[in-house]
Amino acid sequence: MKIENNTVVSFHYQLREVGGDYTEDSTNGDPMLYLHGHRGILPGLEDAMLGRSIGDKFTVALPPEDAYGPRNDAAVQRVPLKHLINEPRPRVGQIVTVNTRNGKVRATVVKVGRFNVDIDTNHPLAGKSLEFDVEILQIREATMDEVSHRHAHGPGGHQH
Ligand code: ZN
Repeated sequence: MKIENNTVVSFHYQLREVGGDYTEDSTNGDPMLYLHGHRGILPGLEDAMLGRSIGDKFTVALPPEDAYGPRNDAAVQRVPLKHLINEPRPRVGQIVTVNTRNGKVRATVVKVGRFNVDIDTNHPLAGKSLEFDVEILQIREATMDEVSHRHAHGPGGHQH
C-alpha cells in the first residue's frame, strides 16, 4: 500500500532546524498519525509523503515558506502581564498562552517588564529552514469518520 489521499499514515520523525539548535524527536513517544490529503501536517512534508510505502526512510528539507512561513516582525507586541494565562512570572524565551481579542494564542516571551510583557506570536520555527528524517511505520485506509472529520483517529492522532 502506498500513501495517497485518504490513507492514514503513522510515522516517526526527527526534526532539525538547519544551522540552528532546535530539534524534535518523535521516537521518544507515540508516532505521528495523520490523514493524507487534508493538510494535517506541514504542506511541504505532506507533499514528500505521497507515494511512499511502509518502511521507507527519507529526509525532507523544507525552506521556511514550505514549513512555518516567514517571520512577521509585526507579531511582536506588548501586553499586560495579567493577560498571560497561569504565568505570573514568565521568563524570556518561555512559551506562554495569552488572552487576546482574537482568543487564546501561544507566544514566546521576548522581554519582561514590571506590568507588561513583550511577546512574539510568530511560530517559534517561523523563518527557519527545517530538515525532517522520516520513517513510515504504517499505512491504512481511512475510516468514513476520519474522512468526514478530516483527521486521523487514534494514538498520535485525534482522540475524542
Ligand atoms: Zn475526529
